[in-house]
Formats: sequence, structure tokens, C-alpha cells
Amino acid sequence: MCVSSGRGPHVYLDDSDKALKVNQHVTEPLWGPDAVDRTVLEIKDSKVRRSYISKSTFEKLKKTPRTEEPKRLILDGWKWDSEQNKYFSESNLLGEYVPSEKKVLLYEKTIDEVSIQDHVPEYCVGISTYIHEVFHYVHHAAAENNGRAYETIREIEEAMTEFSTLLLLDKLSNQGSGKVAWDKVLDWAKQSIESKQNYLGVFPAYGFGYYLFNHFSNDEAEAVKWIKQYNQKIGAIDKKNRYVKWYQQMLNPMYPYKDEKLCLELLHSILFNL
Ligand SMILES: [Zn+2]
Repeated sequence: MCVSSGRGPHVYLDDSDKALKVNQHVTEPLWGPDAVDRTVLEIKDSKVRRSYISKSTFEKLKKTPRTEEPKRLILDGWKWDSEQNKYFSESNLLGEYVPSEKKVLLYEKTIDEVSIQDHVPEYCVGISTYIHEVFHYVHHAAAENNGRAYETIREIEEAMTEFSTLLLLDKLSNQGSGKVAWDKVLDWAKQSIESKQNYLGVFPAYGFGYYLFNHFSNDEAEAVKWIKQYNQKIGAIDKKNRYVKWYQQMLNPMYPYKDEKLCLELLHSILFNL
């Protein structure tokens, strides 16, 4: 994959006719102008990140019969960290947003590997990841516009970011604009985000973004209202509020994901009523 790095609007995936003007697509028509112009994109090789869960959570999940909670028991690959006194799993990052530098990083080697593993062109993985990371920047910019620090609650931030990514890809897919096969990009992003419902750690919060996308699939105006409302609230959500804690708990491994309706109600309260 060849992606131009540095400040600038264009991202080129492959080197031929798949030039993608991400800038225009991301900033129009939903999320306000100039967002991407002010981020810096850097391409790196790969990076491993560890996710941790407590010993007691791990042990409880291990004892839970698989038939009772089939969606929440992907325990494979977790190892014991004796220094942290916790279980951890390692995953290769596809991309990340670095708030201190307002920088989007894409991990090229991992993007290539995932695209091979999932049998999709690498631009599907690359574009989805890039748009996801840019939305973190959009949220950061929104916080600053409101005179706030970019302080997020990860379970909300990642759900809203995945939700926004799918909504934008869906829009681009319906428009059929440019030379990119947007429907392919959307299909990959949908299956990738939905699969995160099945994992332990913070991943179900990402998967909840897929639930939000489906829930609002027939009402774009309402979806945009929620996203705009989140942008208004960033940096002002009280982490100690009981609804916030409850929402976080609901997306915790010990709770079955089937209570996503309750997650939705809690998120509504947090965004619109608090
Ligand atoms: Zn993210």
C-alpha cells in the first residue's frame, strides 16, 4: 500500500487509479469543514497493544457455560502477566490517533496482513481505519471549539467513532462516488466492527457502534443528531455519573451483549439528559 504521508488532503491507496480524496468526503457533508486539513498522517510499520482484564473476571468467564453467554466468551489467546497481576491479550493496531500531536498513524504492515487474512483489497482496511482515526480528531477539534480538553470515556468515544465511520461509509456507498468500491469498504468495516462484539476487554464498546449503525439505519437525521450531540458533549461528560458508570459496566465482559437496548437508553440519557 502506498499512502502519502504528511499534511495534506489526499490519500493514495495503491498507486494507480484508487486515489481517494478522503478530505472532502470526511469533512462534507456531516461533520464540518477543515477537519482533515489540520491532522497529520504518518505511516508506520506495526505496533502491538496489550489489553488487560482482571484475574477474577477471567476466572468467572471461564466457568460460565458457553451456552449461556455464547457471544462473550472468546477467551483464547489470553496470557497471565505476573507483574500486573492481570490477564492480557495482544493485538496489532491498524491505526491510532495521537491527541498530543494531532496525528493519525496508520500501521501499514498490519493493514496488509488483515486485508490478506480477510480476502479484501488493502484499501478497504486502510480507508476504514483512516476514517475511524480522523473521527477521533474531529471529536478532539469539537472539544477545543467548545473550550474543553479532549477527555473521553473510551466506551463512548469508540462506539461513537465506529458509528460515525459506518454512517459515512454507508453514505459514500450510496452515492457511489469516485473510483473506490465503497460498498466493499463498508462491507469489510461492518463485519470487522460487528465481530468486536465477541471479544473481551474494551472491544464490545467498538461493537456497540455496529449496533448503533443498524439501529439508526432508517433515520439518518436522528443518527446525525446523536453524533452532533456527542460532539457538543465531549469533555463535559461526568465520569462519576451513575448512568456513565452503568453504561461502562454494560459493555464490560461480565455483562451479556444482548442488553444493548439498555446501553442505548443509557447513552441517550448521557448525551441528551445529563
Ligand atoms: Zn478508536
